[in-house]
Amino acid sequence: MRLLLVEDEQTLRKQLAASLIRAGYAVDEADNGQDALFLGDTENYDAVVLDLGLPRMDGLSVLKRWRANGRAMPVLILTARDGWHEKVEGIDAGADDYLAKPFHAEELMARLRALIRRAQGLASPLLQCRGIVLDTRESRVTVDGWPIELTAHEFMVLDYLMHRPGVIVSRTELTEHIYAQDFDRDSNTIEVFIARLRKKLPPDAIKTVRGLGYQLAAEAGG
Ligand code: CA
Repeated sequence: MRLLLVEDEQTLRKQLAASLIRAGYAVDEADNGQDALFLGDTENYDAVVLDLGLPRMDGLSVLKRWRANGRAMPVLILTARDGWHEKVEGIDAGADDYLAKPFHAEELMARLRALIRRAQGLASPLLQCRGIVLDTRESRVTVDGWPIELTAHEFMVLDYLMHRPGVIVSRTELTEHIYAQDFDRDSNTIEVFIARLRKKLPPDAIKTVRGLGYQLAAEAGG
């Protein structure tokens, strides 16, 4: 999953980015409203963390512009501790959730996981398919109850597919959602990650749909 993290306070931004990367996200950072607006308009994010007090354009204006432009990604706003009016304005402007500063990184990550799940209509933090269980809280995967070791990129590919069972996902889409913007992207490496994943997963879990992409088997009845 790929996130946009918008925060002008550098120490906080770097700490959050490090926590999010450790948790298995690809993270783009912006330290002002104009850069945030551009990135959110042109890149495809699974969720956005948006501070409201920003230089060059405030967060609320950025959020309103995204929504006016039809950008529908989940957005969590960061508000001042006593800023109840900011929360109201933010939610009315199209925010999906908020956190008041200061907050624990764990709470931010729990809220992001929930936002990302809900965007795909998934209620449980445990994603399951053909004996594969991916625990989004721990970034852990088991197959028939046995833990399997995945590299960061293998995990990101599987995580993206497990959030979309039965949906055909193209290599380009996967590439967009597992690499941060400054990464040298190559959609051919997706094939390598899929091949490695298949060796670790039940044989028919990931289907190749010729010319279109990959599809995680949908669980019967769910
Ligand atoms: Ca700020």
